Amino acid sequence: MKIGVIGAGISGLRTGQLLSHQGHEIVIFEARDRVGGNLLTIQSEDGFHEAGGEWIDAEHKRTIALVRELGDEPVPADDRPSRVMFRGSIRQDDDLWMDAANDLRVVHEEAKLIAAAMGERPWLDGRWMAADGRTVGQFVQEFAISERGHWLVESQLRSDEGTDIEEVGLAGWLYAYQNYLGRDSNQGEMSAYRFPRGAGTLCEQLAEGQEIHLKHAIRQVQHDENQVTVVSESGSQRFDHVVVTIPPALLQSSFFSPEPGRTLPRAWETAPRSPTVKVALTFKNCFWEDGSDWSGAFLCDLPYQQVWSGGQGLECTLLCYVNGERARSLSAHPDSAVERTLRSIDETHPGAADAFEKGFFYDWINDPWSGGGFTYCRPGFLSHGAPYLGRPMGRVHFAGEGTSQWLGFIEGALESAERVAEEIGT
Ligand SMILES: Cc1cc2nc3c(=O)[nH]c(=O)nc-3n(C[C@H](O)[C@H](O)[C@H](O)COP(=O)(O)OP(=O)(O)OC[C@H]3O[C@@H](n4cnc5c(N)ncnc54)[C@H](O)[C@@H]3O)c2cc1C
Repeated sequence: MKIGVIGAGISGLRTGQLLSHQGHEIVIFEARDRVGGNLLTIQSEDGFHEAGGEWIDAEHKRTIALVRELGDEPVPADDRPSRVMFRGSIRQDDDLWMDAANDLRVVHEEAKLIAAAMGERPWLDGRWMAADGRTVGQFVQEFAISERGHWLVESQLRSDEGTDIEEVGLAGWLYAYQNYLGRDSNQGEMSAYRFPRGAGTLCEQLAEGQEIHLKHAIRQVQHDENQVTVVSESGSQRFDHVVVTIPPALLQSSFFSPEPGRTLPRAWETAPRSPTVKVALTFKNCFWEDGSDWSGAFLCDLPYQQVWSGGQGLECTLLCYVNGERARSLSAHPDSAVERTLRSIDETHPGAADAFEKGFFYDWINDPWSGGGFTYCRPGFLSHGAPYLGRPMGRVHFAGEGTSQWLGFIEGALESAERVAEEIGT
């Protein structure tokens, strides 16, 4: 069969590859002038850093397998401890303040208990509907009782979800938490590996040999029971099936003709993309590598929120990863984002301003083809989003990280590609 794939992010590229292995003829359409979507590796003379997705969770079996399939080995993360700073007091993450460590444990134990009781299709069980109207912020308020503990839990979850926890739906979050039930702790597991040649480079490898039309934004998908037509500025093409990998946050009813009923648009509303930005600061030397037992990573209550040593190869780069309201504020004044972040970094990494060479601001919020960093769930996601986001509409199929239980992750993008390949069959 002839199959069109919209979007050449990792989900679209993997979908194209799997379907072509199943014997189909595939054409991929991509709005940008490059493949990779929210994965983008910035190469320099000395190495590279990641402007978008970067880490591979220890549980991300498909991602690890894909790296190996392409002939590489995932790079284990630095196993030295990170530091945490609250109100000027600094601790290592393996030696936290007792009250904060306790709160962290209690929140995760409670989450685990509920997630384990939810089952595979919790939207069919009325017991979880009350939680679906609540936020993770309210849940944390209940179980993290110390000020430091509350701050720590809130900061870690903001980093995982890509936005402030007051915006994240509780039941949807607990549903995704089911992926972590087998774990004793999250310590280091979320960021266990990185891509040896960069996540964007892996996408370029996946793209090799595939028919991809770049700078080819699709404006509409027209479908009936026999065929699907994709329409762009330069004309239209007919297919037997079409796979849409555009994130739910960017989809609108009028993108489809005939338009879907109310269910799908309502599902998209529950799955926005996060206000996430990265600031990369490149230095003349890696001055933070002071021979200590510290990895260079920092989670703090300063405006830059979180930083880690992001340069791979010889590149000396600190990557600041900012989410939620703070990210929106950087995005509102992009011209001063690097300077503001450098000033803030200099407080925790003395010497930064002196060694500074150049900086880049990666604004995923204002990127019209991204709609934000990655998908998170709003309240209502469990009832109105999760059951519908990956459901096909006749010959139109939906993939992408926003359609998977591994919401927001590369792993979800890959899982969705496998699901769609199975849906379409041979
Ligand atoms: C700063 C940042 C940090 C992250 N960190 C991690 C991490 O550490 N680990 C992790 O697993 N994940 C991380 N992620 C998330 C990860 O990048 C995404 O989950 C993944 O890249 C999503 O892939 P996708 O193919 O589903 O979507 P996308 O990459 O968004 O691909 C969709 C594609 O569709 C294209 N498109 C959109 N509209 C149209 C149109 N109308 N016509 C044609 N093409 C269109 C887009 O240009 C894009 O290429 C991070 C993301 C960001 C931004």
